[in-house]
Amino acid sequence: MRKAIVLAVAALLAGCANMMGSQPSGTGVVKITALGSHDGEFCARDRAMVFEDPDGTRILYDAGFTVRGASDPRLGKIDAVLLSHVHGDHIGPAHQPAANAGSCGSPDFSVNDTPNSNTVNIAVAKNARLLVGGELNSFFPVKVKAAGGDPKLVQTLRFGAMGKVGGVRVATVPAVHTNGLPPEFLDKNVGDALRANGLTAYVGPPNGYILIFSNGLVAYLSGDTGITAEQDIVVRQYYHANFAVINIGDVFTTGPTEAAYVINDMVKPNSVIMSHANEVATQGGKVVAGSRTDTFMKAVKVPSYVPLSGKTMSFDVSGKCVAGC
Ligand SMILES: [Zn+2]
Repeated sequence: MRKAIVLAVAALLAGCANMMGSQPSGTGVVKITALGSHDGEFCARDRAMVFEDPDGTRILYDAGFTVRGASDPRLGKIDAVLLSHVHGDHIGPAHQPAANAGSCGSPDFSVNDTPNSNTVNIAVAKNARLLVGGELNSFFPVKVKAAGGDPKLVQTLRFGAMGKVGGVRVATVPAVHTNGLPPEFLDKNVGDALRANGLTAYVGPPNGYILIFSNGLVAYLSGDTGITAEQDIVVRQYYHANFAVINIGDVFTTGPTEAAYVINDMVKPNSVIMSHANEVATQGGKVVAGSRTDTFMKAVKVPSYVPLSGKTMSFDVSGKCVAGC
């Protein structure tokens, strides 16, 4: 009898733990594909990634310069577009005319997307929701309408409760960075006045994202950020992120050493993909010795994976890479 009660209590506690997300047990894999400038490499301006839930929901994160417009065949169906902040290398004032155009260190981004943006053009063409924080819920509807889309595609996701796209729950989390909109995205008279004064248009705080996939995998997408206490208190202690994508961009964001500290001592996921290296990180698909990417991989204690453009990596519920790594 006593044994039965102990077992019952143990089962109850296990159930509670599952509800808290600390003992995920779902099935299926999350597929992650980097959409960089050069096939099979990790290049200076690469930020964009597509996340595919086991239920087929596809989410584009920070299109930037390297998604080749809405007709880029790598996109396929896109249900939602995320944008961590409005700096050019994330919102996308221009894009590459063709795969591998220019060099890995200095890609050719000669197709102009201003005053709209690569991000908005893609969301409109895909009829995808734009889940954004800051003041972007009033700025982007104007852009979406100008591009011929439904302004209702833009959905507010400030720091707080979770939104949902298909079976994926999405939240924004703080990022310690800036969020000034470059003048080329504004009406000419406003943009010219700001440019003459050396200013950008501030559009509220930048953010990172938490994605909780239908199999239970909890991903932390850092956006551009330095070290911040929320990576411990919010990302790890509340959301229990067990997988991360983190910037290693140096000076602009955490560099490789700071990013490794965030992963090792604050977020503590089971694996990590680095992003935003601002360098020629690979040659022939191999990490360049002495690069920021190399430094990060040597400093981080969990398995780390290079986002080689076009290559799909699959992660299970625990954040373990099970294919493509
Ligand atoms: Zn950036």
